[in-house]
Amino acid sequence: HVKAGGKDGYRFYSESMSIDTANRLSLERDLRQALVNNELCVHYQPQVASNTGEVVGLEALVRWQHPERGLLYPRDFLPLAEETKLIAELSECVLEKACQQMKRWIDAGHKSMRLAVNLSPLQVDHPRFVANLIAQLKTMGFPPENLEIEITENVIMNDLEQISRKLRELAAHGVRIAIDDFGTGYSSLNYLHRLPIHTLKVDQSFVRGIRSGEDGACIVNAIVAMAHGLRLDIVAEGVETDTQLTYLRNLGCHQVQGFFYGPARPANEIDALLGVKARARAAV
Ligand code: C2E
Ligand code: MG
Ligand code: MG
Ligand code: MG
Repeated sequence: HVKAGGKDGYRFYSESMSIDTANRLSLERDLRQALVNNELCVHYQPQVASNTGEVVGLEALVRWQHPERGLLYPRDFLPLAEETKLIAELSECVLEKACQQMKRWIDAGHKSMRLAVNLSPLQVDHPRFVANLIAQLKTMGFPPENLEIEITENVIMNDLEQISRKLRELAAHGVRIAIDDFGTGYSSLNYLHRLPIHTLKVDQSFVRGIRSGEDGACIVNAIVAMAHGLRLDIVAEGVETDTQLTYLRNLGCHQVQGFFYGPARPANEIDALLGVKARARAAV
């Protein structure tokens, strides 16, 4: 697939400023058009129970089918969406598509399947964030218990008092809350027992440390031990190898997500994945 220019740091800084500005302007224009033309789509990455191999959740990850540049990934356009405030519209679109799709899977019998959705700082910052989200779920008839929002530590530390109030309100409605990329942000651990958090997502940079015969796993060990102590769910991100999976399972890490089980895929491929599983169970 083709990716937008500028994602490679070297090229970004060696290009002249005027080209870069023109590029950004055209990308911004394209992004506005993308929202009108429905060019954004959502891919889903399985979250798998480490002991049974069962798919228990799906993380929604936005993609942009650009008419000329091909399939673009979040790193190619999310920073621009944030800067131009188009992120609000983009996220609303992602949430709506993902909830509608997940509702189909729930209605097809996957009653406790969880939908994980990433939220940007700007979204959470919005004064009507909670009210709008709850209203949107209600309109779509989506059960709040099946939704898990993912936020990063940086969002939390931005304004602990305000975020605390918002998250409590969301949790009271049944929405689950996950800390994404746990351990990589600028944060204090103090918030962990002050906020209604359900899940810690161990960042893939720590999972990468799990290799046989090395002690790179010590941070993963510590995070999982802490999550157990606080009775939080744990999802390990970026699990790519059998070694990592086995290690995490033995450690008591409940769920894993990563290329080992597969990348984020379009809904029709997830249909097939879930369908095959259901038939396999029915046949037993
Ligand atoms: P994230 O939420 O931490 O998502 C995990 C990223 O790691 C995804 O990249 C995923 O494709 C990738 N990944 C998954 N398994 C593996 C693996 O085994 N190895 C490796 N090397 N990578 C793996 P993606 O889809 O490019 O998303 C990047 C980031 O963009 C996400 O990080 C999230 O912060 C943000 N993002 C994605 N979709 C949305 C969205 O709809 N709204 C908002 N606000 N942010 C989004
Ligand atoms: Mg995430
Ligand atoms: Mg992450
Ligand atoms: Mg991330």
